[in-house]
Amino acid sequence: MINTDALIIGAGPTGLFTAHQLKLIGLSCEVVDNLDKVGGQCIELYPDKPIYDIPAVPECTGEELTNNLIKQLKPFDIKFHLNERVDEVKRDNNNWFVKTNNDKIFLTPNVIIAGGVGSFEPRKFSPKECEKFENKYLFYAVKDKKIFEGKTVTIFGGGDSALDWAVELSKNSKVNLVHRRDEFRGAESTVNKMKELVNSERMNLFTKYQLNNVRGSDQIQSIDLKHDDGQTKNLETDYVLGFFGLIMQLGPIAEWGLNIDKKTISVDTKNFETNQKGIYAVGDICSYPGKLKLILSGFHEGALAARACFKLARPNEKYRFEFTTTSSKLLKRLGKKE
Ligand SMILES: Cc1cc2nc3c(=O)[nH]c(=O)nc-3n(C[C@H](O)[C@H](O)[C@H](O)COP(=O)(O)OP(=O)(O)OC[C@H]3O[C@@H](n4cnc5c(N)ncnc54)[C@H](O)[C@@H]3O)c2cc1C
Repeated sequence: MINTDALIIGAGPTGLFTAHQLKLIGLSCEVVDNLDKVGGQCIELYPDKPIYDIPAVPECTGEELTNNLIKQLKPFDIKFHLNERVDEVKRDNNNWFVKTNNDKIFLTPNVIIAGGVGSFEPRKFSPKECEKFENKYLFYAVKDKKIFEGKTVTIFGGGDSALDWAVELSKNSKVNLVHRRDEFRGAESTVNKMKELVNSERMNLFTKYQLNNVRGSDQIQSIDLKHDDGQTKNLETDYVLGFFGLIMQLGPIAEWGLNIDKKTISVDTKNFETNQKGIYAVGDICSYPGKLKLILSGFHEGALAARACFKLARPNEKYRFEFTTTSSKLLKRLGKKE
């Protein structure tokens, strides 16, 4: 069980800046995200797209913004819990008991939901048999590429993730690449590399095919593919990987007794608290009259929610507003000399 002054759900731009604001005023915090990396929509949906409306930053990409937010957090020791989806939030006397899908438990007086448009979940294969092998022989992300060494891996998809992993895993595994179209959406250089590997018979390519069935009892023995023209083909394989992009789901957040309207959480703009004491919502997931779904709004909301957390985390102390430029206490927290 992890005790903390505040738990942030979501490591998008709002969650990251909120962590900075909490640490600046001397509170401890932990950050949980369902994805395998921080940055939320900026890193998952538009890492290369320029953003022009971050105050005092004339232009930066989604990735650059994320890197700068991480840099801003450098002076602080913040624990990120990635690949963890918060599934449960319930009252435990004066605290909130928070549990993830991997059974990690947090106890905290303050929960800040910075969950954006919900958790990003992989789009999955449709045949029902796939569920039985999921996370053992069938995956939607690669966590440990070593398990594929010397094995046959069948990769489905036509975008960057499918192509990058097909090229990478072909170094130490036998790779079948299956795509339901003839055209690929990945970077031109990776598409060319993949074609080179196929032409030199170091990778097998099956286009206009989809997964029809998975065979095997404990582990996968083979899979059936179905062509656009209706014909089927059986392929022996040890592992199956699917890269069909992500869908966003509000998911478990809808179950926590919060005031939810059109997939957003209503808040009080005084401190971004929800209808539950000690639970705050900031960034794209919160709603109030005049809300703008912009990164700069999330920064403001996170700053106010962080101050509100102080009251419950330090009931016997009084929060004193200070500028970062002049406060000796804050400069010390930032690791700077006065
Ligand atoms: C194509 C595009 C272009 C954009 N351009 C701009 C722009 O130019 N300027 C601008 O200001 N805004 C822009 N936006 C909007 C901006 O990206 C969002 O306002 C911003 O990302 C919201 O940040 P957030 O931290 O609130 O949420 P998100 O970035 O959505 O991050 C939320 C995080 O919470 C995680 N999460 C959710 N539920 C759970 C759970 N139960 N457990 C664990 N983790 C969970 C998700 O995995 C995600 O990583 C753009 C958006 C898009 C799609």
